[in-house]
Amino acid sequence: QIIDIKVPGKKYPAFVGENALQELRAILSERTYSKIMIVTDETVGKLHLQTLLNSLPESTSPVVYSAPSGEKAKTFSVYEKCLSFAIEAGLDRKACILALGGGAVGDLSGFVAATFMRGIHYIQIPTTILAHDSAVGGKVAINHPLGKNLVGVFHHPEAVIYYTPFLSTLPPRQIRSGFAEVVKEALIADPLFLKQLMKEAVDLTSMPNLPFYLKKGMEVKAAVVQEDEKEMGIRAFLNFGHTLGHALEANAGYGVLTHGEAVMTGMIFALSISRKQLGLQFPLDEFIQWIEKLGYEWRIPKEAGFEELLQWMKRDKKAIAQKPMFVLLKEIGKPVMEEADEKLLRECFYQLM
Ligand code: NAD
Ligand code: ZN
Repeated sequence: QIIDIKVPGKKYPAFVGENALQELRAILSERTYSKIMIVTDETVGKLHLQTLLNSLPESTSPVVYSAPSGEKAKTFSVYEKCLSFAIEAGLDRKACILALGGGAVGDLSGFVAATFMRGIHYIQIPTTILAHDSAVGGKVAINHPLGKNLVGVFHHPEAVIYYTPFLSTLPPRQIRSGFAEVVKEALIADPLFLKQLMKEAVDLTSMPNLPFYLKKGMEVKAAVVQEDEKEMGIRAFLNFGHTLGHALEANAGYGVLTHGEAVMTGMIFALSISRKQLGLQFPLDEFIQWIEKLGYEWRIPKEAGFEELLQWMKRDKKAIAQKPMFVLLKEIGKPVMEEADEKLLRECFYQLM
């Protein structure tokens, strides 16, 4: 399955499914890169590096940099180490980086590729469900001690190689985290897709149609990015559920909640505001029953105070003049960006505790 991602001045393919590694081999055989550097993390490297190595053309003799797993990959110090490794390994302007891992490895590798010698090629090889989202769209970044993703640029990959068998080793919590973004894509763009998901996806550990859902999700993301690469307008709709989601993540301390768990709670919050503020017709109870069956713990933790979370929401990158902005739905598939009344926020908040 292939998706074409188009942005001003560039077009690149995303291959999804069991044949994706063959496509990678074809791309690398065709292009004459001077050197290949694989960037991965310790967890993914142990599990899947060999499979990737086996699928590369014989003529490539790649070097491998392994970062610490998870968010620890996105620090200044790892960024520097990765660059030093690249320089010592003799990479030049015609080299290519292969990013084998989740969103963290993808963001680190993309940022290294964007800045090494003012920019070299890279290819995303996502290994998490969440990375169906992060691998598309060209945003790459590392974290600053004062905040997540504060140091970054736009740098699109040459291709996205989504070999779905890599997903088989994901722990359920990571599956749940990534799947929340698929649900988000359905909510903001495609009522029929949402219906299909709610009917078919009832057990996250066995989803025969997962590659299809991931492709659908990536198509939603690609369509949005195509229209608004630099987030001047509609790209912000991808932040549905993220205003409260980011606040919950930050307030709990990063790493306590997964991103998708926090976003799922944020989406229920935004749906509930949308019903009251915009008259959205949506069977929220049925939706909640469904995601509970999938194992989401979506309730706002009792110890999280409204005032504290409101402060986080006001500091969100999307906030305007200290007023938290929300992506709300007029209908499923019809998002708008709006301010919400503080009284209404409070009311919806306490209902979700
Ligand atoms: P991640 O890369 O940290 O992966 C989560 C964990 O799963 C890690 O410990 C990793 O080692 C492990 N893992 C990865 N693949 C595995 C596999 N196949 N089997 C077993 N374990 C595996 O996180 P993520 O959830 O993929 O992505 C989150 C990151 O993505 C955040 O840093 C976030 O800021 C970023 N992000 C970026 C964008 C973007 O547009 N650039 C969008 C969304 C998220
Ligand atoms: Zn997200």
